[in-house]
Amino acid sequence: MISDRCKNIKPSAIREIFNLATSDSINLGIGEPDFDTPKHIIEEAKKALDEGKTHYSPNNGIPELREEISNKLMEDYNINVDKDNIIITCGASEALMLSIMSLVNRGDEVIVFNPSFVSYFSLVEFAEGKIVNINLDDNFDIDLEQVKESITKKTKLIIFNSPANPTGKVYDKETVKGLAEISEDYNLIIVSDEVYDKIIYDKKHYSPMKYTDRCILINGFSKTYAMTGWRIGYLAVSDELNKELDLINNMIKIHQYSFACAPTFAQYGALAALRGSQECVKNMVNEFKRRRDLIYNGLKDIFRVNKPEGAFYIFPDVSEYGDGVKVAKILIKNKVLCVPGIAFGDNGYNYVRFSYATKYEDIEKAIEIIRKIFE
Ligand code: PLP
Repeated sequence: MISDRCKNIKPSAIREIFNLATSDSINLGIGEPDFDTPKHIIEEAKKALDEGKTHYSPNNGIPELREEISNKLMEDYNINVDKDNIIITCGASEALMLSIMSLVNRGDEVIVFNPSFVSYFSLVEFAEGKIVNINLDDNFDIDLEQVKESITKKTKLIIFNSPANPTGKVYDKETVKGLAEISEDYNLIIVSDEVYDKIIYDKKHYSPMKYTDRCILINGFSKTYAMTGWRIGYLAVSDELNKELDLINNMIKIHQYSFACAPTFAQYGALAALRGSQECVKNMVNEFKRRRDLIYNGLKDIFRVNKPEGAFYIFPDVSEYGDGVKVAKILIKNKVLCVPGIAFGDNGYNYVRFSYATKYEDIEKAIEIIRKIFE
């Protein structure tokens, strides 16, 4: 009875591995901030509930939030997007889904950098598109020439993510601009997943939207404001792209018939997040940076590893001791949870992903365990 569409999707490799975990394990597998949502955001959502904001919102989201996002894009990145070209979604996850479902036909090709966030692969499969993998090199850099060479008449999208999960890589202006130029030259669209744009250390975030109209900018509140359970994200498109494709109206059709709207009171919480002090974000990022330094210094003498520049993941090459699955299993048996890199694509075969969105002391303990096993 189950549809082929569903049957053909493999369950996440992460689940299988996590079944080996015990309750006293140190969890370096999880992909969400360990902080609670800042109080002022919670208070505003509570107030919205008390005021009866418990009904459907407009499909595309409350106008105040879309307006505020439009202002932020201008303030932070000098990107001009009208509030009517923004859709508030149930997390960035839904924004990714709307982008892919509204643009990809059966057999259309979608360029995905490998390794990448797990959903990209499955969403393209759901849309019956064809994934064209571009392997990242040992420094997780993108070869723009290889991107150009992989483009065919069927290529429609490039899915791009900076700062990146699982690698922690932050792409420089040259790469981002280069991809933007490719999208113009070949008439493609970049789906730019920027959910970690504020979780960045020493580097600067560049959005392809700054350099091209052929971009769907995706972001959300899960990571920046520790709001994973609130399910609020958004997508933004330029006037030009929207005029060319009537993209927003087409996306709204999918959104309307599947989600109707993002949770209304949670949208008021998100509004408070944007309007309130950004000190909470600064403090969280400072703490992530402290943990990044701890885990990088702890692992760099054991594995070949790039220093993460953003997000809250570190992605060492563990091949000296076995493939990623083998090493992850050893670690998990020793009570350190991590994710084998292959969960993020074939090119992650020799890697494991550790998340450092967990307590400093727990990371210290985990490093001690890892040292004892491999040194
Ligand atoms: N994009 C990336 C790169 C992610 O790592 C995640 C979550 O882990 C998401 C999107 C999904 O975010 P959201 O909670 O907003 O759906």
